[in-house]
Amino acid sequence: MSIEEGVRLARFTTLGTGGPARAFARPESEAEVEELLRWARQRSLGVAVVGLGSNLLAADVGVHALVLKLGGELTSVEVDGDVLHVGGGAANAVALHRARAAGLGAFEFACAIPGTVGGGVWMNAGAYGGDFAGVLERALVATADGSGWLTPAELGLSYRHSELRHGQVVLRAELRLRHRPSEEIKAEVRELNTRRKEAQPTNRRTFGSVFKNPEHELSAGRMLEACGLKGHRIGGAQISPKHANFIENAAGALTADAIALMAEARRRAHEQYGVRLEHEVEFLGELELPAL
Ligand SMILES: Cc1cc2nc3c(=O)[nH]c(=O)nc-3n(C[C@H](O)[C@H](O)[C@H](O)COP(=O)(O)OP(=O)(O)OC[C@H]3O[C@@H](n4cnc5c(N)ncnc54)[C@H](O)[C@@H]3O)c2cc1C
Repeated sequence: MSIEEGVRLARFTTLGTGGPARAFARPESEAEVEELLRWARQRSLGVAVVGLGSNLLAADVGVHALVLKLGGELTSVEVDGDVLHVGGGAANAVALHRARAAGLGAFEFACAIPGTVGGGVWMNAGAYGGDFAGVLERALVATADGSGWLTPAELGLSYRHSELRHGQVVLRAELRLRHRPSEEIKAEVRELNTRRKEAQPTNRRTFGSVFKNPEHELSAGRMLEACGLKGHRIGGAQISPKHANFIENAAGALTADAIALMAEARRRAHEQYGVRLEHEVEFLGELELPAL
């Protein structure tokens, strides 16, 4: 397994932005991940994983860490009774396909979440009333000191949040699903995808919801729309004209453009509604939003 230098993270994020990783590797087994975690520790280097990069903003100047992209057996999906055994690097779409073929439901919510199972556990990703916390039995998490299984409570899963930190790698997960006819699963997925396409810019380069929904009668999207931000552009990034809680790469965007748009959106939401919007997208590298 080789460790590369200078790999640009823009290749691995759905927004298509991000500079080079200090080191980059594609482990294909638990043993390889553990070896890489030890390699990084010997060099006092942080470790981060990229899934499908669908919830990720990586710094334009690059990321001073060992960045891992899981492959090989860490993307496997197997069915055992009503439990789906999935690698942390498996795409949700593949896991859902296997579950449907086996007549296992309760993972339909993930049809519109273009990420991996590891990224889903990290964020407790969810949609349409379902989330990972609702199906996750346990996850195998590796650190430089070894690997162990953690339950949702031990992972601290709550709304779009877990207690996982960089340096912890989700190697595998076990999802407990429910028997359901494949045709019903197919019909629900079709309906959810139609609803999604109507409401969100699914055919643009984005990273999903920019901000978490605040405790307010308005969702983050409605609030930013009311602030007049739909279509607002900075550099190559623009707030989606279709849904104001999405940022699109309109043309040659940089992460800095997206950050500037986020700062402006937070400022306006605070000014108009007194609300401090909290970002849902994960930051990789030296990135932060200016204080309000
Ligand atoms: C069009 C669109 C629609 C979306 N809709 C939704 C939605 O409805 N609901 C929702 O919740 N999200 C949504 N998202 C956001 C995103 O798809 C999810 O958050 C997804 O779970 C991210 O998974 P990923 O594998 O791409 O993670 P990445 O974006 O690659 O990474 C996200 C975080 O997880 C960490 N991570 C990833 N894999 C691992 C691993 N194996 N071990 C440890 N850490 C890991 C990364 O280091 C990073 O901190 C959407 C995104 C897009 C582009």
